[in-house]
Amino acid sequence: MKVNRRQFIKIGAGAVGATAFSGLTTRWWGLDKDPVHDPGTEGTKVVPTFCELCFWKCGVLAHVKDGRVTKLKGNPAHPLSRGKLCPRGTGGTGLLYDPDRLKRPMIRVEKRGEQVFEEVSWDAALDEVAGKMLAIREKHGPEALALFTHGFGGSWFSHLIKAYGSPNIAAPSYAQCRGPREVGYWLTFGQGLGSPEAIDMEHTRCLVLIGSHLGENMHNTQVQDMSRAIARGAELVVVDPRFSTAAGKARYWLPIKPGSDIALLLAWMNVIITEKRYDIDYVEKYTTGFDELRAHVADKTPEWAYPHTGIEPERIRETGRFIASFKPASLIHPGRRTTWYGDDTQRIRAMAIVAALLGSWGRRGGYLLPSKMSLPRFPYTAYAYHPREKADRPGSLYPLADETLASGLCDATIPGKSVYDIKAWLVYGTNLLQSLPDPRQTKEAIQKLEFIAAIDVLPVELTGWADVVLPESTYLERCDDLHVARYKEPFIAVRQPVVEPMYDSKPGWWIARELGRRLGLEDYFPWKDSVEYALARVKAGGYDCEELKRTGVIRGKPVPVTEEEGVALSFATGSGKIELYSKPLEMLGHDPMPVYRAPDEPPPGMFRLLFGRSPVHSFGRSTNNRFLALADPENEVWVNASVARDLPGLGGPLKSGELVVLVNQDGVRSQPVKAKVTQRIRGDCVYMVHGFGHTAKGLTFARGRGASDSELITRYKVDPIMGGTGMNVNFVRIERATASTT
Ligand code: SF4
Repeated sequence: MKVNRRQFIKIGAGAVGATAFSGLTTRWWGLDKDPVHDPGTEGTKVVPTFCELCFWKCGVLAHVKDGRVTKLKGNPAHPLSRGKLCPRGTGGTGLLYDPDRLKRPMIRVEKRGEQVFEEVSWDAALDEVAGKMLAIREKHGPEALALFTHGFGGSWFSHLIKAYGSPNIAAPSYAQCRGPREVGYWLTFGQGLGSPEAIDMEHTRCLVLIGSHLGENMHNTQVQDMSRAIARGAELVVVDPRFSTAAGKARYWLPIKPGSDIALLLAWMNVIITEKRYDIDYVEKYTTGFDELRAHVADKTPEWAYPHTGIEPERIRETGRFIASFKPASLIHPGRRTTWYGDDTQRIRAMAIVAALLGSWGRRGGYLLPSKMSLPRFPYTAYAYHPREKADRPGSLYPLADETLASGLCDATIPGKSVYDIKAWLVYGTNLLQSLPDPRQTKEAIQKLEFIAAIDVLPVELTGWADVVLPESTYLERCDDLHVARYKEPFIAVRQPVVEPMYDSKPGWWIARELGRRLGLEDYFPWKDSVEYALARVKAGGYDCEELKRTGVIRGKPVPVTEEEGVALSFATGSGKIELYSKPLEMLGHDPMPVYRAPDEPPPGMFRLLFGRSPVHSFGRSTNNRFLALADPENEVWVNASVARDLPGLGGPLKSGELVVLVNQDGVRSQPVKAKVTQRIRGDCVYMVHGFGHTAKGLTFARGRGASDSELITRYKVDPIMGGTGMNVNFVRIERATASTT
């Protein structure tokens, strides 16, 4: 049964309609009583905490009755939720009560990847991990161990690994996601955008989404802000090869040829500059390199851009003028996953330069200058200095990258790919076989390891390759570090345990501390538990611990965040100005201003593979969640309707709902997946939601549902500026699934 979005949100919000599904969910969980989403059930206890269904960290009020979480609601006091959760967030109990959860520590008994383990005691599992870590440090040095981490609970393990002595700690959320964006804005304005992004969507008058699927990409506060802005009459311009949900609300949808965004942005610059539609005072006062930029884009006319982008010159001109007419409250949304074609930092630079021309940085309705409340760190013993450079970029490759590259650590694990050999991995909360490009290469790296341990909640593909698996409690069962947010209204939020840990799972702080003790690092874990740790920080900051426990959040005073509110704009660039022309890039041998270079075309009969996300899923992290699957149980591959009528080799038109197999340029075949035949996508590409097509044996619900785009991403193009992996460079052909493929 698939539930439509409206019905689903009603269930999540605890409104009428949920009872119709309670029997179904009860059967799925194999329980006598539906433990979740009995919408009439108010808790006898309500615990404020914050969500971890995605990284946004919205404030939650968790209702508990008879020791069970009955519903999750948005915390009205929390600035990121404002009393509302997104559809995923309401389904957090689907993770808590997932029958497939990792329940006890396990040690591998067959070959890596065969997913055969035996359950052991915590002492046995921790002794095994600590023993291997000590042996690696003794034999190869501490830097031979890498930590891959994702999620807020990863801070305990980052702390452990820094104390252990390794500098090699990486999150795929940088080189595989937001890294180019941070570097592009930093090069232009002297600072990145952080998370939540420092943008004023609520007050914007014109929002420009370039390949950003807000609405499908359900970042709660941003979706609320976008809705408010649209309700107040804000305009929307959507640039996307696919007619996204947001495009349905837009004044303009530009179905751009994939990979040609820089050409469009250069043409917009041309229109804005030649027609003097830029913010002349702002540009004169705050920017450097305008003359060079004007010369650079003088011939980048809409007519020049047309054959590259497929967008007619008049439409480029019209939209350039339209966006400029709302300056400075015209906001080019920075996006989140920005690793597309390998020229990503330059594309982000082009977006930042248009924003600078419109004077929207530091202005109401544009980009904000948020702040953070001051909270002292816990007074730990200092980490030892590590003399060796990080493993991800030997020889000072990518000096502009400001975080470690997860893909670089994977490369450094394969002998011959790097001068630096990683010998062991600790993997916290990230399914590297879906988050890193080319899973074949990730498996090759894993096979070279002397040791790999995984800490996770669910038995995902990566845990199937681990030597030791440590089951972590979910975010509803544990306390993590405090969330000290840099936001327009700064705040400190606490994650508190809502219910006791189920099964034999343990919170991350406990696992890290117990490993620390076994490694002789007790001094780095001088607290009884994470609550004592968190409260010590709150007290040291002079804040009220009781208020934080009671409300879940301490809000700081709103501070001025725009020039209109009195902020004096300053820029932490070399010149102290907004750098339209980048001397640092020039010095490093890169283009000082964005240059358009056409990406490779799909070979005949093939289509560019694009991927994105579902509003009810956090990629592969939630596709096993039975409750969220009520709304979205599997992905589909979007195929243009005109193309589907006459696909080569299919012997007849393709219809929606038919099973197809995608075969990429390297001959890798997808699992069978349903086709969605639609006019809402260009004919040169196909699209699917990321995170489906699981193969892990333990994911009994998600396994075999839909297809995995990750398996098809066997090629990527590295961003020469910061080392991000552009992944929209793969092509597929479409075959009808046959009896042997289903
Ligand atoms: S956006 Fe949704 S899933 Fe993410 S933290 Fe907020 S409520 Fe949770």
